[in-house]
Formats: sequence, structure tokens, C-alpha cells
Amino acid sequence: MARPVRQGTAYLVGAGPGDPGLLTVRGREILVAADAVIYDRLANPTLLGLARPDAVLIDVGKTPGRHAMTQEEINAAIVEQARLGRSVCRLKGGDPFVFGRGGEEALECLAASVPFEIVPGVTSSIAAAAYAGIPVTHRNVATSFAVITGHENPDKPETQVDWAGIAHGADTLVFLMGIGNLAEITAQLIRHGRAADTPVAVVQWGTWTRQRVVEGTLSTIAQLVADSGLKPPAVTIVGAVAALRERLAWWDRKPLFGRRVVVTRSRTQASDLTDLLTDVGAEAIELPVIAIAARDVAEAVGRLVAAGLPHDWVVFASSNAVDLFFAALAAAGADARLLAGSKVGAVGASTAEALARHGLRADFVPTSFSGEDFAKQVGSPEGLRFLFPGAAAASDDMPRELRARGAEVELLPLYDTVPDPSDGAAVARRFADGEVDAVTFTSSSTVRLFRELLPDVDLSGICLAAIGPRTADTMRELGLEPTVVAATSRLSALVEALSDWWQPAG
Ligand code: SAH
Repeated sequence: MARPVRQGTAYLVGAGPGDPGLLTVRGREILVAADAVIYDRLANPTLLGLARPDAVLIDVGKTPGRHAMTQEEINAAIVEQARLGRSVCRLKGGDPFVFGRGGEEALECLAASVPFEIVPGVTSSIAAAAYAGIPVTHRNVATSFAVITGHENPDKPETQVDWAGIAHGADTLVFLMGIGNLAEITAQLIRHGRAADTPVAVVQWGTWTRQRVVEGTLSTIAQLVADSGLKPPAVTIVGAVAALRERLAWWDRKPLFGRRVVVTRSRTQASDLTDLLTDVGAEAIELPVIAIAARDVAEAVGRLVAAGLPHDWVVFASSNAVDLFFAALAAAGADARLLAGSKVGAVGASTAEALARHGLRADFVPTSFSGEDFAKQVGSPEGLRFLFPGAAAASDDMPRELRARGAEVELLPLYDTVPDPSDGAAVARRFADGEVDAVTFTSSSTVRLFRELLPDVDLSGICLAAIGPRTADTMRELGLEPTVVAATSRLSALVEALSDWWQPAG
């Protein structure tokens, strides 16, 4: 059930601490529907991909000490957007009311008679600790926790900080914005009676794939953090619970944790591989190289429907082909029952999975991700009629081989693959900055288009991963030696191949 998102209303939405999966259901609902999105750097930019393509995006770009927009300007922008009659998603890192100045923004809306709603978010004060393997409370260890600013308003006189109260206010103390003051904070806590050997953990970019954790004690942590070069955003967790990380760390122990992997697929397909990579802790850098341009097949599909699909076999070689074929069927007022009298073939396990999503089990999937192998392995095709709905530029291997074996093959070109250069420059910069550990290729065309889009990037030392032998061959033809080749044509196998390759390095 979807709840309404009203125009003229300002929604102060907690974006969560970074991991996009930690956005709330209601937050997502508002972000997806909003006419205007006002965001800052603590909200993960990949969340912006959820916004409507035509939504107004306003970056208020706050970084410590430098405000791209002052708080007054941000308040004014929220009110202005709402008054234009837009639904406004004010996307704020963590929770909007935990050191997020959300209260000020809500008061401003109130003063301007702009209706507002608050969508709480997963605050970094708890989540960064959790992703570091630190529970903020723990039976017999900590029965209370406090969240404290480590950076008081600099205009306030020093004496405002009640260190005695803070030191004994709770078992676990979580400081936000405290990295710059760490030496002062830890010295004051010791002076006011917390043991010098109290465990402390500092978590930078908690819940992101670039999370870093420095561990020490009240007496050692300030120096350790200075030596490590850790910078904001980071939370500092003081208390006996910090020692639990030794046993409970999990996020930064994922097999591909922190690896930066370029995903070269079509814009619509990229997300499956991105999800798999994120699940094992890698940062997926999406480089959509291919856009799928669907052809108008209404007439051709209409004829098939009218004829009751006379083919003995229907063969798909990509999940795009499957999805577009079923979309065309639906548009023609038909459904999967049209295939009831035919056998269904799938080249590649991902293609078979796409069929399964439409309720069909493939009758035959060849042992490798190769149309030619399909034609060679499928039993007695002689005299049978094959329909091959697919890419207009699909390889001729399968139809040729099937015809050579006495079959009749009809092609149904569903789509063209066209280059998509839109994100090239941004990804080229990540290569130049040494911020890429691997590149994945899921088809020959992604190899070609990658080469076309980024002909000059330096790939030395970067793991180049192919989904199958055919893609690997294309890589070699274009001078790219594959570092790993997936054992089967599944995306999950590609991710496993990457994990295996990195395992020795941890
Ligand atoms: N409303 C936010 C806090 C905003 S104040 C929340 O509920 O999380 C900004 C401070 O939050 C940063 O200086 C840092 O201390 C902390 N912070 C936000 N996101 C963080 C993250 N992913 N990892 C560590 N600290 C984070």
C-alpha cells in the first residue's frame, strides 16, 4: 500500500547513514515521488537515482567548515520549493532530528505555513557502530548510551560543556562531529574519571563500502586517529562495548569489502550485478555503456499471436530479449500461454532466470553461455521451426548452426544496442585517481563499448573479469587479457570469481 506524497509539503527525510538499503520504506516512497529533492553529502548519492528523472535536484553541499549553502539558504530553498507547489523531499544524512538541524528546518516551515512531515532515519550514531560490530548497549556491559556532539557551536564559551556530566552520563558515549576535538574530548573524559584504558573505536564513513575503523583506548585513540589520517565523517564510540568489535565485526569482513568494481552493462541491467557486489561489500561503480533501444514489434508479434505461434522452439539469448518479448506479448493482449505448444530454450543461466520470472522453465539450457553450443547440443533440430527473438545485432552463430543441422530459423529483432556515453567522464576520473580495483564484462558488446568509451584508461594492475569464454575471447581480441573468467555464465559466478581471486589478499 502506498501512502500519498502531497504537493506543497516539505518532507524532512532521514536518508540513513550511507548504505542505501538503510533508507526507510516511507522515505523511499517520498523520494521516488518528490517533485524536488534537496540533499547534502551525507546522503548516499546513489539514492538520488531513485528520484524522478524530471525532479528538481538541489545540492546544498555541506562539508565541515564550508557551507555551499548556509542553513538560512537551505531553509529558504525548502520553503520556496514547497511554495511553488512541489512535493519536497529534504533528504538528510542519518536521522533528520539527530544533529541534523531538522528542528530548525521544521520551525522554518511552520513560520512560513508550509505543511511538513518528518520521516525518521537510521542514525549514524547507532548504525556506524553496528556496522563496526559494536552494539551500543550490551547485557552486563552497557545499560545506557548517550549521543553527544563533539563539536559544540564554536561561538559558545568553553564552560558550556559539562564534562563531568558527560563522562558519567551513560555507559556508552557516542560522539558525532568529534574528530577534530578528539584529543580534548578524551583528555576531559579521563580527567573526569573514565578509565584511561576504556576501549574506543572511531568509525569513518560507517555503513559505506569505504568504512574505516580505528581502535584504541581513551589514552591512545587521539594519536592513532591522527596517525591514520582519518577524517570526518566519523563517530567515536567510547565504552566497554567497543571491545566487542573484535568478535562481532562483520561488514568490513565481507569478501569483497572496499573493492571498487566497475559494472559495464546496460543502464537497466546494471542493478542486478550492483546488488550482488554490494552484498559482498564491494562498491559498484556503474558505467552503463549500452542503452537498449526497443524496436516496434507490434505488427510482427501480432502476426505470431494470430498464428498461435507455430514454432517448435523459441530461443532467448539474453534477459533483455525475454523481458521485451513478454512486454510485446502483453501489448498484443497475449501472455505466456502462447508458448504452451513450443519448447523454450535459454542461452545463459541469467536468461533462464529471466524466463523463470515470467513463469517459464527453460526446456534446454546449453552447458556454456554460447548460442553455437545451444545449436550443437539441442537434440534433433532437423525439420523443426525455431523462433529467435533477440538483439538486432545478435551473433549469427546459432541460426547458422541450426540451419546447418536442417532447422528453419526465424529471427525476431526486438532491440538495438546503442552506446551510452553519459557517465564516461566521471568513471574515467575514478580510473585516473587509482580508484578502480576491477572491471566486469558481461558480454562481448560491453567489452567493445567500454573500449570505445574509455580507450585510454590505464588498466595495469586492475582485475579484468569476464562472464564467459566468448566475452573473454573478445577481450583478448581487443588487447585486454582477462584476469578471471566466471565458471558459469551467472552474474553470481562472476562475483564468486572476483572473490576467489582476492581471497589470498583477504
Ligand atoms: N543526522 C545525522 C548526523 C548529522 S551530523 C545522523 O543521524 O547520523 C554529522 C555527523 O554525523 C558527522 O560529523 C559524523 O560524526 C556523523 N556521521 C554521519 N554519517 C556518518 C557515517 N556514515 N559514518 C560515521 N559518521 C557519520
